[in-house]
Amino acid sequence: MKNENWNKTLLYIKAKIEDTAFQTWFEGLEVSTVSNDSITLLVPNRFHYEWLESKYRHLIHDALKDSFGRSFVVNYSVLLTEKSSDEIPSFKKKENNIIPKGYNRSSNLNNRYSFENFIEGKGNQFARAAAISVTDKPGQTLFNPLLIYSSPGLGKTHLIQAAGNRMVRKNKSFRVLYITGEKFMLDFISSIQKNKSSEFTKFYRNTDMLLLDDVHFLEGKEQTQEQFFHLFNDLYQRGKQIILTTDRHPRNLVGLKERLVSRFQSGLIADIQPPDLETRIAIIRNDAKHNGLELDYSITEFIANTIKKDVRIMKSVLIRLQALSALKNIDISMDLCRQVISENFGYDTVQRITLKQILGYVCEKQKVGKARVLGKGRSQEIALSRQIIMFLSRELTSLSLKKIGIELGKRDHSTVIHACKIIEERIEKNPSFKKLIEQYKHELNKFKL
Ligand code: ADP
Ligand code: MG
Repeated sequence: MKNENWNKTLLYIKAKIEDTAFQTWFEGLEVSTVSNDSITLLVPNRFHYEWLESKYRHLIHDALKDSFGRSFVVNYSVLLTEKSSDEIPSFKKKENNIIPKGYNRSSNLNNRYSFENFIEGKGNQFARAAAISVTDKPGQTLFNPLLIYSSPGLGKTHLIQAAGNRMVRKNKSFRVLYITGEKFMLDFISSIQKNKSSEFTKFYRNTDMLLLDDVHFLEGKEQTQEQFFHLFNDLYQRGKQIILTTDRHPRNLVGLKERLVSRFQSGLIADIQPPDLETRIAIIRNDAKHNGLELDYSITEFIANTIKKDVRIMKSVLIRLQALSALKNIDISMDLCRQVISENFGYDTVQRITLKQILGYVCEKQKVGKARVLGKGRSQEIALSRQIIMFLSRELTSLSLKKIGIELGKRDHSTVIHACKIIEERIEKNPSFKKLIEQYKHELNKFKL
């Protein structure tokens, strides 16, 4: 009973937080004792406990209540290993019982990130190729540092960890270290407090490939930047590979010192753009397969059509769907899907503009009759209006391509694909057309219910 309820608790939590967070903080976590009103969780170290307490206290409380049907006082028991209670996690040498699956203590890499399970698409091709190529000749190419930037959820962490994992697989003695900007700062502060600055420096310099994730976190943190600047120079001069990620182009990092920004720009900069429809579908299918989740194609397409700019959100929808269907023992239907997306990401995401609205709006703007657009006519102006409507419907609604085709005069879905291509090409070639389409989009977005 204890285990069953605890598993439910974990499922509940899994459905609420990011994949990586779950794997880092909850996977493998065990219960030591349960009484009527208190429960004791076993954690690997003090840091782990503090993290759970500060970030997840409420969530853990709610999850326990939901699964056990009563409220608990939560206690923690730290699995004692040598000196473990006051060490900074990355200085830790001794392994202990609870380690998140696939996580490596010395490199901080999680081996679930690989190039094999990273779906390639137009938007990430370049960054992916760059990440692979630095592992062929680390530190020896002009790609040093390699900086990858994108908005959140598009695969930066995945790519740089994949690079680290590939490197370690190729050469076991190659020292790779993955660290986030936040963790780097915490370690730095902690080293000052504990009078261990030289150990800090030694630890970070003792690496052949440094992966620093989310460098924008260092904005405004001058002391930490200063530390990083010296580290960077030291590694760089010794021909060590550095890979960085940021949430925007480095020139737009206002809170970073100029000399750091210019270092960042001295190697290769690669961005990741949001995935196109095909890539989104491929990612969903791959993820579903990996998790043993059976999804109808229509549902896959619905999710891909609804969530366009963030792979992390897309994945968390899948996790929630899976958790809900497992907990409640129900099938994953379109309705469940709609419910999960609108509950978690707002009604707005699902309840989008209708095709009718787009049809009406574009016909009015282009001064063509609706009936002609829906009919068989092939004159240039009609065809163009029709293509614009198809394109905007794909962008702004959650309808499948098939459905768009049917609604617009019983056309085939390949016609819709073709139309979208034509419009995309035209947007690329013709700035004033691009502006027009953007204006249409902008106006149409005001129609949202
Ligand atoms: P970022 O660091 O840019 O915020 P992440 O690397 O954490 O994004 O990616 C968010 C989630 O989406 C992760 O679970 C990651 O594995 C997944 N992901 C992102 N892009 C892809 C892709 N092209 N193929 C497969 N999974 C992806
Ligand atoms: Mg990240």
